Amino acid sequence: MFLTGCNGETASTENRNGEKTEKQEAGNENGSSEEKIKGQFDNNGSKERQEENKQARPAMKNERPKYRINPANWSVHPIESADAQVVLLTFDDAPHEYSLTIANTLKQHGAKAIFFVNGHFIDTEPEKAVLKKIHEMGFAIGNHTYSHATLKGLSEDEQAAEIVKLNDAVEAITGERPKFFRAPFGMNTDFSKRLAAKENMLVMNWTYGYDWEKEYQNKAALVDIMVNSPYLNSGANLLMHDRKWTSDAISGIIKGLKRRGFETVDPALIETP
Ligand SMILES: [Zn+2]
Repeated sequence: MFLTGCNGETASTENRNGEKTEKQEAGNENGSSEEKIKGQFDNNGSKERQEENKQARPAMKNERPKYRINPANWSVHPIESADAQVVLLTFDDAPHEYSLTIANTLKQHGAKAIFFVNGHFIDTEPEKAVLKKIHEMGFAIGNHTYSHATLKGLSEDEQAAEIVKLNDAVEAITGERPKFFRAPFGMNTDFSKRLAAKENMLVMNWTYGYDWEKEYQNKAALVDIMVNSPYLNSGANLLMHDRKWTSDAISGIIKGLKRRGFETVDPALIETP
């Protein structure tokens, strides 16, 4: 069985992580109305030049990865001695309306996260400014396709456009290409997996999430289930969305996770292709 999908169909909680079967994948993510549409270091340079290049690189670029995503269940596993009591926070369908508020709350708590963005949310100047701000605040920007397309319904050329066009757009705004890819509804194709690898992106679905289900679309219920979910384990990959109730709940969720002994993992420490 699976979960409530983007169109609101009911499903069970038997398996919350994506990609066991097509049906499960399809049931695993929610969405906005859009979702209802089917649908180098230069060694030749002078010292100054080298310094310049160094500074232009992303802050964590030289740090050795401390975590790895387990493709069997999308959870985060420590490499060697890194702290295992962590969770990964992810926000999809960003940066629509609440992502900047969510980012500010995360920042107040010293929490890290990935914002998986869509191209149609970063195509105006104000939206570009929001994305730039979230990136400058130190959050990872992931690729969630340009138009939140169901990749299985698209030709390879169309899939390539959905994925690469968004990476180009994000890079034009932030100066950095996304390192993480999450297909809408968790529905990858063989082609999209190959393309993500070629684009040096790590593909991930998630371990659990609830904010698209009617009964959890309020602060108290969402805080409670996100913190007390039976799926909360070391390395759990938590799926949330750019939604008002999620924005309202995020402070309580982080505090609750901390109470249960979980810190949020820095996506910059996760190994990517
Ligand atoms: Zn989505």
